Amino acid sequence: MTVRKTAQIYEGKAKKVYDTTDPALAIVSYKDDATAFNGLKRGTIAGKGVVNNRVSNHLFRLLEKEGVPTHYVEELSDRETLVKKVQIVPVEVIVRNIVAGSLAKRLGLAEGTRLRSAVIEYCYKNDDLGDPMINETHIAALGLATHDEMETIARYALAVNRFLTGYLEGLGIELIDFKLEFGRADGRIVLADEISPDTCRFWDTASGEKLDKDRFRRDLGHVEEAYGEILRRLTGGGGEA
Ligand code: ADP
Ligand code: UDP
Repeated sequence: MTVRKTAQIYEGKAKKVYDTTDPALAIVSYKDDATAFNGLKRGTIAGKGVVNNRVSNHLFRLLEKEGVPTHYVEELSDRETLVKKVQIVPVEVIVRNIVAGSLAKRLGLAEGTRLRSAVIEYCYKNDDLGDPMINETHIAALGLATHDEMETIARYALAVNRFLTGYLEGLGIELIDFKLEFGRADGRIVLADEISPDTCRFWDTASGEKLDKDRFRRDLGHVEEAYGEILRRLTGGGGEA
C-alpha cells in the first residue's frame, strides 16, 4: 500500500481522521477513549479501538458482498483503516428491533419489548445541540440530504438490519438497535463511519447479557471483556481486548 497519512483533519470522540497522499482516500484511527451522554461521561476502554476497527471492517466487508456500498478500502493495522473520503450526511440513522435506551424513556416502554416491525429514526448530527431527533421534512427543509438520497439511505439501513440480524443470530447475539452514518463519494451514497459495540446494542441470546457500550454507560463492569467477546464471536480471534 503506497498511500500514506498526511495531515490529521479531524479528531472526534472515538476516532481520528487523516488525509492521505490520495485525495479520494482517508485513514481512520480508532482510539480507546469512550464517551457517553453527549460527552458528559468520559473514560477509557482498553483495547476498544482494536475491537471496533476489526469488528467494523469485518461487517463492512460482509455488507459489501450483500450489495451495500461502504467506505471500506483496506485494513492497515489493528487500529487503522483506509477508507474512501466521503462528505458525511449530517444525519444519524438509528434502526431499532427491540426497545432500549432513549426509545424506552420516550415512549414509556420496558427495555426488551420486541417491536412489531423495525423502526428508523433520524437525528441531526450536531454535538452542540445533543443530536436532536428530526424527520424527513426537517432533513429536506434544512437541505441535509435530498429526497432521493434519503430513499437510498433508508433502503440501505433496512438492508443492513436484515443482514446483521440474521448473521448475529447465528453467533448467539441479538441485534437490539444500532446507529449508521452515510456519506457521499463520487455522487453516490455509501455507508461510512463504523458498526461496532460502540454504535450497536448487542445482547447475548442465551443469557440476555449486554455485550456493548451500555456496560460503560451504565457502569455494569466487564466492559473490556464484552468488547473482546464480540470480536471473538465475529472473527474467531483476538478476544484479549
Ligand atoms: P464523533 O465525530 O461523533 O466524535 P468519531 O470520533 O467516530 O465521532 O469521529 C469520526 C468522524 O469521522 C465522524 O465525525 C464521522 O462522521 C467521520 N467519518 C466517518 N467515516 C468517514 C469517511 N469515510 N470520510 C470522512 N469522514 C468520515
Ligand atoms: N447511538 C450511537 N451514537 C449516538 C446515539 C446513539 O451510536 O450518538 C446508538 C446507540 O449505541 C444505540 C442506538 O444508537 O445502539 C440507539 O441509541 P439511543 O437512541 O437509545 O440512545 P442512548 O440510549 O445511547 O442515549
